[in-house]
Amino acid sequence: MFISAGKLLLCLFVGLVGLACGAAITAQAEITPVKPYRFATDEATVRMTVTSPYYQQIWRQALTNWNHEHVFQFRLTTAAQAQITIAPMPLNERKASIAGLTYVTYNNDDLITKVDTYLNSTTLKTYKYTHQQRIDVAEHELGHTMGLAHNPQMKSVMYFANRYYSIQKVDEEAVNLDYRAQFPRSVTDTKSAETYAQDGVQQRPLFNQLNKLVKRDRETTAISWRKN
Ligand SMILES: [Zn+2]
Repeated sequence: MFISAGKLLLCLFVGLVGLACGAAITAQAEITPVKPYRFATDEATVRMTVTSPYYQQIWRQALTNWNHEHVFQFRLTTAAQAQITIAPMPLNERKASIAGLTYVTYNNDDLITKVDTYLNSTTLKTYKYTHQQRIDVAEHELGHTMGLAHNPQMKSVMYFANRYYSIQKVDEEAVNLDYRAQFPRSVTDTKSAETYAQDGVQQRPLFNQLNKLVKRDRETTAISWRKN
């Protein structure tokens, strides 16, 4: 079939506009960034030591919401040992400026070995977070437990002071890509403790007895005063 040059140009033009629109959409909603570390597989056991039924319900809803995205499975357990522990926030951590806090411990291979995550019930009450907004913050903390970092855009559950957003496409996609990535992922820091010493580099934090590098990341979530 004969296609005129005019028609061909039109097709090309439409094609280019399509590409440009695609790029614009991508620019509007950048995928949520991830940390160098993650769990070895796309699931983790979760132990809840929170005693308040109200907060148990908040966390359960947040876990269910993430599980419904089908990119990572949180498995609640009553066993004494679990990969993730959801606990009442220690009193010394209850700073007035933070809504939530997550500690991630990971090893040499950038694999998460242990996570502790908390909501600051004191400030959530002070700043009158609604039930839904507390679930939003719990979802944010669970994002950290999987290895998500903060998203500079407000329309992400991983915004540093998230209050108003539940899990967004940019968040779900970040977990999906991170855990579908070929494993083991390329690790940026493969030096052994000995190599660091030889290089004259100061000993890095927390070597355990096996001389395995253990690192701990502290992620806080800021209180939000702004109206949606
Ligand atoms: Zn955070």
